[in-house]
Parts: sequence; C-alpha cells; structure tokens
Amino acid sequence: MKSYNEMTKKELENELENLRKITKEYKDMDLHLNIQRGIPCQAQLDLSMKMMDVLSSTSDLSCEDGIDCRTYGVLTGIPECKKLLGEIIEVPPENIIIYGNSSLNVMFDSISRSYTHGILGSTPWCKLDKVKWLCPVPGYDRHFAITEYFGIEMINVPLKEDGPDMDIVEKLVSSDPSIKGIWCVPKYSNPDGITYSNEVVKRFARLKPAASDFRIYWDNAYSVHHLYEDKQDFLLEILDECKKAGNPDLVYKFTSTSKISFPGSGIAAIATSLNNIQDIKEQFKIQTIGHDKVNQLRHVRYFKDLNGIKEQMRKHADILRPKFELVEKILEDNLKDLNIAHWTKPHGGYFISLYLEENSAKEVIARCNKLGVSFTPAGSTYPYHKDPHDNNIRIAPSYPPMKDLETAINVLVNSIKVVAIKHRLNIQ
Ligand code: PMP
Repeated sequence: MKSYNEMTKKELENELENLRKITKEYKDMDLHLNIQRGIPCQAQLDLSMKMMDVLSSTSDLSCEDGIDCRTYGVLTGIPECKKLLGEIIEVPPENIIIYGNSSLNVMFDSISRSYTHGILGSTPWCKLDKVKWLCPVPGYDRHFAITEYFGIEMINVPLKEDGPDMDIVEKLVSSDPSIKGIWCVPKYSNPDGITYSNEVVKRFARLKPAASDFRIYWDNAYSVHHLYEDKQDFLLEILDECKKAGNPDLVYKFTSTSKISFPGSGIAAIATSLNNIQDIKEQFKIQTIGHDKVNQLRHVRYFKDLNGIKEQMRKHADILRPKFELVEKILEDNLKDLNIAHWTKPHGGYFISLYLEENSAKEVIARCNKLGVSFTPAGSTYPYHKDPHDNNIRIAPSYPPMKDLETAINVLVNSIKVVAIKHRLNIQ
C-alpha cells in the first residue's frame, strides 16, 4: 500500500470515497461506545471477589499487633498492611503512611498541606507570589487538574523514551525557586507507557533544587502492572537513590491497590523519608483518627504478600494483554504503511499513546464522537488541555469487551484516515 504522501490527488479522492462508505456503515450502527478512561473491566473486578469472603461476622478482626480493627486507633496503618504496600512500593514499612481509598487524594492532600502549612518549616505556598510545577508531557490529566485547581503555573517538559528531558528538568529546578514540584509516573507512564531509565532516576535523585521545599511527586501507580511475563520493565527504587545522593527528603512516592483489587475501594499510601513522614503526621493526626483498618486487614488477608499480588497481576495481564494486542494489530494493519501515525507498544500499564499528524487529534476525536465512540478528549494529556501539536490521543483498552474495542478502534482508524486525506485535499 502506498503512503498518503505518495498518492496522487485522484487516488486520495478515491480512497476518501471508500472511507466515507465505511463511515456511513458505522453511522448506521448507532454506536454508543465509551473508551475514555483506563478502568478495569468486569472480568478484572471479578478477580478480587474472593476478597469479600476473607472476613465474616465470625472473623477475628485483630491485626498483627493485637489491635482491634473494628475501632479507632493506629494512625498510620496496621503493620501488616504497611508491610504489604511496602513490598509493592519497595520501601520499609516505617517509611509508609497508609491512607484511604485513593492515591490521587493523597497527592491532592500533599499539595494542599504545602499550600497552607509549608514543608518542614518552609513558607506556606499560599504566601508566595507564584508557585510553579513541572509537567512531563504527555501526562495524566488528573495530575494536571490538581495543580490547575491550586492555581499553580504548569510548565511542560518533554517526556522522552527513557523519562522526562532531564537537561530541562535540572536547569529549571536548580535555577527557579518558585518551582515546587514535578509530576512523575515513572513506570508504564500514563499515557505513553514508558519507564524511566536508571540514569534518569539517578539524575532525579541528584537534583539540586533552588527551593528547599521542592518535591518529586513519584506516582508509582503501575509498579506491578506488567502485561507480559517475559518483557517487564525495571524501575530503580528512588528513595534509596535519593538517600545515597544525600537528598533523602526529595521524594514523595505514591501507590495504591486501585488497579490490583477494586478501584475506588482499595488502599493508598505515601512513602517518603522519616523526616517527611514526621512532617506529614503533624497534619495527619489532626485530619483523621485513622483510615479504614478493616479494608486494610481484608487486603492483607486476601493477598498475604507480594507473591499474592504478583499472582493477581498475572491474571489481570491475561485479561488485558489480548486487548492491547488487538489495538496494536488494528493500528498496525491499517496505519503502518500510510505514514500518518505512530503509537507506543507498552509492556505494562493501562494505555496506548497514539500520535497523529499535527492539528489532527481534535478533529479525529470529534468525528469518533459523532459516530458514537468517545475517546479521552483531545488535549487531555497536556496541562490546561492544550496539546501544542494537537496530535496525541490516549487509548484505554481495558474496559470494553473485545468486540466493542475492535469496533471502536476501527472507527478511530477510519476517522484518522479521513482527516489525513481531507488535510491533503484541503477539504474542511
Ligand atoms: N495515578 C495514575 C498515574 C493513574 O493513572 C491513576 C488512575 N488509575 C491514578 C493515579 C488514580 O489512582 P487512585 O485510584 O489510587 O486515586
């Protein structure tokens, strides 16, 4: 097949006519498909149903150190839960605080606390004229929504195949004291699915921020979310690297069981230096008498240890892998030769990131919407919803059944081709 750039005007017109016939068929199907968000499908949720059976009215609800989980007490999480989440996030239990059901909430909370009370004695951000934040792009829309909500000025940093462009990060962080943080999804990133290299992690650990209250927001949401047994990305543990580099307080690490057990009904945690833990606890002890220990106990009794988590993740992968491979095959079969798009082939996580020609993503998504298929809105993967090239689309294959996913991606492919030809023929 010729690429679109090699086709004559007549050939492009013929191709457009064929594509329009297919578009009409999709229109007649009266589709209502939604593949906007990376949420687990029903079969994935079913994997954790037995967790509901590990506790009953006859269970002993005391945790390891004898505390009754049915009542108040234990501020920062029961010991066995800290151990379990510690294994997932690769830090000792003493460096962890267990929160409620959402890590995003912990991130929000951390920024909120920095705004009102500062970090380890520094000036609260609300008293500063300007607070800025680095945002590797493309990135996670809900991260950007938090920093936007607080009125923080977001600065785009290009995300490369091995992590953010560290030359830019180092230069900005060391020269501008109003830069207070950076969003990082270091493993199987949302949406590109890349994992930071050892070199990038070490450069993060060695940063010399102009602001003493600069923190790396290390959102390790996909730490154990591999798609393959034989192809798994490796991420260097950053807290340890920071310690070695003499920067022990530089990082807040976040994790949750959202895409391990039940999203929205799991357990979230922050992991950081003992100094930071102490600082956070000053707020934490006022904010709550402690989070849901029964849910903590339920998770530990069900998963037991890291092996239990890994076994569960293999089952998730068995459901997710065919969906990723289906999307990759449809894109490959339809777009590879045309030279109008390229896309990521991640080894884990929840997304495939698709790159189109400049100024195409909005138009393509709008066409899909008109055909009854809704994707993550164009621009969502950038701060302020402004994709400077208007060319990135996040594909979230997890939720729909295979048949619906196949239809949705075929509609997407049809729309991409139509838009690419219309641009070449100068048709509005
Ligand atoms: N971080 C990233 C990178 C995500 O993709 C998501 C969404 N699944 C979350 C955090 C949300 O996690 P939680 O449910 O723990 O708030």
